[in-house]
This record gives sequence, structure tokens and C-alpha cells, in this order.
Amino acid sequence: MMQKRIAIFGSTGSIGTQALEVIAANPSLFSAEVLTAQSNDDLLIKQALQFNPNIVVIGDETRYQKVKDALAKTDIKVFAGEKALEEVAAMDCYDLMLAGIVGFAGLKPTLQAVEQGKAVALANKETLVVAGDIVMQKAIEKRVPIIPVDSEHSAIFQCLVGENLNPIDKIILTASGGPFLGKKPNFLVNVKRDHALQHPNWSMGAKITIDSATLMNKGLEMIEAKWLFNLKPDQVQVLVHPQSIIHSMVQFEDGSIKAQMGLPDMKLPIQYALAFPQRLANQFPRYDFRRPNTLNFEEPDIKTFRNLALATEALHKGGNLPCVLNAANEIAVFAFLRNRVGFLDMTDVIERTMEKVAFIGQPTLEEYFESDAEAREFAATLIHL
Ligand code: NDP
Ligand code: MG
Repeated sequence: MMQKRIAIFGSTGSIGTQALEVIAANPSLFSAEVLTAQSNDDLLIKQALQFNPNIVVIGDETRYQKVKDALAKTDIKVFAGEKALEEVAAMDCYDLMLAGIVGFAGLKPTLQAVEQGKAVALANKETLVVAGDIVMQKAIEKRVPIIPVDSEHSAIFQCLVGENLNPIDKIILTASGGPFLGKKPNFLVNVKRDHALQHPNWSMGAKITIDSATLMNKGLEMIEAKWLFNLKPDQVQVLVHPQSIIHSMVQFEDGSIKAQMGLPDMKLPIQYALAFPQRLANQFPRYDFRRPNTLNFEEPDIKTFRNLALATEALHKGGNLPCVLNAANEIAVFAFLRNRVGFLDMTDVIERTMEKVAFIGQPTLEEYFESDAEAREFAATLIHL
């Protein structure tokens, strides 16, 4: 395999730092050519000095000079600001983008990478939730592979290798259930930020950890799966599996079910996406079926975790509704992380925003941006941000 030049967008995050571990462990296969952060300048500088990329981008322009000064003795080019992310995504210095920015902010650079015909390893699920039709259409047009990093979608992708065009009957997305599995609204109403940030199986960035606690993460993943695998909404099923050993399953037309399994460790789907179609040897801990262990499965409690019901509604109705759901959710989670709203209030903010913003059946990219902005503005008024 020739050395692949990787651009890590969001290199200072949970996905980004784990991707750099994978690159560091396989220096003959991968080089880190682009690193980007929003505000964590110290870590970005440290990563740049270690990996010697071609380019770094710091989103927050007030931190540009600090990064520039710290890297003055190197050849590394330093850029700053939101626009620079898109400009760098359009450059020729890399082969594959790891899209590891969190939230709507990841959409434009990722779309730019696809536009330029770059392969994309996609962690940023919000990109597909917001504008999945446009992104996937563009990927087909440009013959760009979009390789999922999200563990469930990586599992499905892995189950589909070798199946050629065998039709899928349905996919089963597994969910850990998060830290509040089995809890009821009378408990959830008092949940605070620090408790919600403790996920039982995965260590992740703050936003996705809250999304996992509310089950919004699984809702976003249903929409992500629809676009990645070209499915009808009814073909996407969610099943709670608290041990997170089966990462998801595919049922084919003959009733046969394939599952992909392993210990919950994001480095595995990250490595798979970077090295695809190869599998690389590694030292990650392994699941041992000989150890006493039980795998459990149950239906999600959508009466309690209503975010999953709202996301299912958005999945079925389509149009700009997933974009609106996502924007309202980003505002609600941001407010919850600052102790401005309660755990259950997040759902009310999302529901009211979905009712408020006008429905558009087939939005243009511009209309997606407008729906996102309108939803954010309205959601913020509900919270008095
Ligand atoms: P983190 O919050 O840990 O990291 C986010 C990264 O994006 C950081 O590098 C951050 O920079 C940067 N960033 C944040 N805001 C902006 C912005 N407005 N503009 C540009 N860059 C920005 O998130 P995760 O790594 O947990 O998640 C990243 C994506 O991957 C999300 O979409 C998530 O849903 C998805 N994902 C994550 C998984 C995980 O295990 N963590 C699993 C599956 C999917 P800075 O550090 O400077 O703030
Ligand atoms: Mg996931």
C-alpha cells in the first residue's frame, strides 16, 4: 500500500486524537498532512511538532499568532478561520479527509473534500443528517468513497463487503442505551451535566456523549444510515444492546443476519476507514467469548427518550426536517452543557423548533443553511441564550 496522506479535520478531538494514534502506529502507511482545531491551540501545536504536517488550521482567529509563533522554526503553514477550513479542504496536499469536526461546522469542509474528489472517512454524522442527499449525490458524481467511521455504520459497511448488490432487508443499529438506560422521566428531570457526561462504554467528545444519554445520537445515526446505505426509513431499526459488543447488524433478503463485533474501541473503525480495503494488525485489546458474559437486547424506550421519536419522525418526513432537528439539538445540548436547561427541556426545544420552521421537501444547499440558521435562532429564543 502506498503511503496515504491524511487530513484530520478536528485533530484535537476524541476522534482526531485516536486517528493520530493509528497514524503514529503505522508510519509507513499513513502521514498526517493537515491538522485542524477550533480553539485548543496548545494541543494543535504539540501535534504539529510531533507529526510535522504540511498545514495546520486554527478555527479561532484570535489564536493564530500564538500558533504561528510556536511553529515559526518549522515549514508548517498556518491558517486561521472558518473559511480557511474550506480552502484547505480544497487543496491538493492530501488523499483522504478524516472528517472529525463535531456538528454542523463539519459540513462545508467535508462537502469541499467530496467536490475535489478526495476520499472521506466520515465521523461527522451531522454532515449527512443535515444534507445527506446533496453530499451522497455529489459523492456518486465525483466517484468519491465515503467510508463510515461511526462504529455502527462501520459495522454495517464491514458486513456488506463481499455482498455486491445483494439487497438489504433491514439494518439493526445497536445502541448502548447510555448512562440512563431503564430510567424514567421522574429521574431524568433532575439529571445534571456531569452525570450525563459519564458514558458507560465509550469515551467521546462532550456533544456526542450528551446525544448518547438522550438517545438523539441513535436518531442521528438512523438518518446517517439511510443516506450511507441508500435505505428506506422502514429498513432502519434500533435495538438496545448495553454491552456494545455487537456494533450493528445487517439482515439480508434470505433472512440471514451478519453482525460485526469487538470490544468498544473507536480506534478499530478509525483504522478500518483509513486502511480500507485492507485490515491492519494491531495490539488493541480483544473480546474473548470464553469469558463469562451475556449479550442482552431490548427495544428502546421512546416514550421516555423522546428525542429518538423526534429523530424517527425527521427520518420519515425528510426534507429540511433532519437539518432543523440537528440545529435545535446543537443549541439544546450547548445550553445543557452550560447548565442553562434541564435534561428533558432539550427535547421540548427540539420539538417546538421542528414545529416552527417551515417544511421544505427538497431543499437546495442554500435552503439547508437557511433552515439551520432559522432553527438555531428560534431554539435560542426558547432558551433565552
Ligand atoms: P470532540 O468535541 O472531541 O472534537 C471535535 C473536534 O472538532 C475538535 O478538534 C474541535 O476543536 C473541533 N471543532 C469543534 N467545533 C468546531 C468548529 N465550530 N469549527 C471547526 N472545528 C471545530 O468531538 P468527537 O471527536 O467526539 O466527535 C467528532 C465527530 O465524530 C462528531 O460528529 C461525532 O458525532 C462523531 N463521532 C464521534 C465518536 C467518538 O467516539 N468520539 C464516535 C462516533 C462518531 P477544539 O478541540 O479546538 O475544540
Ligand atoms: Mg455511533
